[in-house]
Amino acid sequence: MSSLREKYSFSPGEAPPAARRTLKAAISAVGRGLHSGMDVTMQLKPAAANTGIVFHRTDLGVSIPACFDHVTDTRLCTLISKGEAKIGTIEHLMAAICASGVDDMVVDVDAPELPVFDGSAAPFLFLIESAGIVEHGGLREWLEILRPVRVEHNGAFAELRSHNQGGTGFDVSLSIEFAASAIGAQAYNFHLSRDGFAGEIANARTFTLLGEIEALHKAGLARGGSLANAIVVDGEKVMNPEGLRFTDEFVRHKLLDVIGDLALAGAPISGRFIGSRTGHALNNQLLRAVFADQMNYRLTSGSVAGVGQLTAA
Ligand SMILES: [Zn+2]
Repeated sequence: MSSLREKYSFSPGEAPPAARRTLKAAISAVGRGLHSGMDVTMQLKPAAANTGIVFHRTDLGVSIPACFDHVTDTRLCTLISKGEAKIGTIEHLMAAICASGVDDMVVDVDAPELPVFDGSAAPFLFLIESAGIVEHGGLREWLEILRPVRVEHNGAFAELRSHNQGGTGFDVSLSIEFAASAIGAQAYNFHLSRDGFAGEIANARTFTLLGEIEALHKAGLARGGSLANAIVVDGEKVMNPEGLRFTDEFVRHKLLDVIGDLALAGAPISGRFIGSRTGHALNNQLLRAVFADQMNYRLTSGSVAGVGQLTAA
C-alpha cells in the first residue's frame, strides 16, 4: 500500500507525471441513485490513451464524454447528456478521478445517475485506488490558465486566474455563506494533491436544508436521499445523529464540487480558482467562459510551465 502511495502520490504541477494514466483493472459497485432512488450499477474501466473520461449508458448504448459542453442541467447536481441519454450526479466521481490523476477511463452506468454512496467522494476514491492506476501511452495535457476569467450571479462568483510566479498545480479558495447557523460563513484554501484530497476533502458529504427536502420530493427529486447519504440542516441543528465529519464539512464539500465540476475541462488545470457561494451552474459557466476565448488558456503537454523538470512537448 505504501509503495502505491509513493508511486502515485503527487501534487499536480510539483512533479507531474508526463505519461497519461488509466486504471490497472476494472472495478464495479452498486449503490442508490440520489434522485431516482433506484439501484445503479457502475463499472470503472481502463481505457486507451487519449480516450479521456467517457461515461457510457449501458442500458441505452450511448457514450457521453465528461466534458463541460455536455452539461445540460446544474440545478441539483452536474448532469451530462447526449440526446435523450442523461447521466447525473457525476461531480463526486469526477473529483476523485481528478485528484487521482487518472486521464483515461470509461465509466459504465445502467441508469440516469451515478450511485450517491454516502454523499462524499471517498467511496469513489476507494474504488479507483482498489482498481489500481497505471501509466500508459501518450502525454498528459494541462490546461494552463493565462489570464483572469470571472463569472458572477447575484453576488456569487467563480474565477480562474494564472498562478503567481512560482505557483503550480491547482489551488482553490472558496467561501460560502448560509442563513442556517449550523453552516453560517465558512472558507477553505486547498492545493490539490492526492493525499490532501483524501485527507481533507474526499470525506465531506453533500448537504441539504430540511425545508428544501419537501420541495425536492414534490419535484420528484431526492427520492433516494436519506441521512445516510447527505447532511440535513435545520437552522442551527444538524439532523444526522452522527454529527459532522469536520466542523467545516459544508465548505469542504462545496470545494469538492468545484474540483469535480472543473474536472470537466478535459485536462487538469494549472491555475488558481477563487470563488464565493459558487455552485454547479457557475462552475460550468466558468469553464464555458474560459474556452470561449483562446487567449484565456493554453494546453501544455507533459509539463506545467514553471516546473521544468519534465520535458515539454
Ligand atoms: Zn456535491
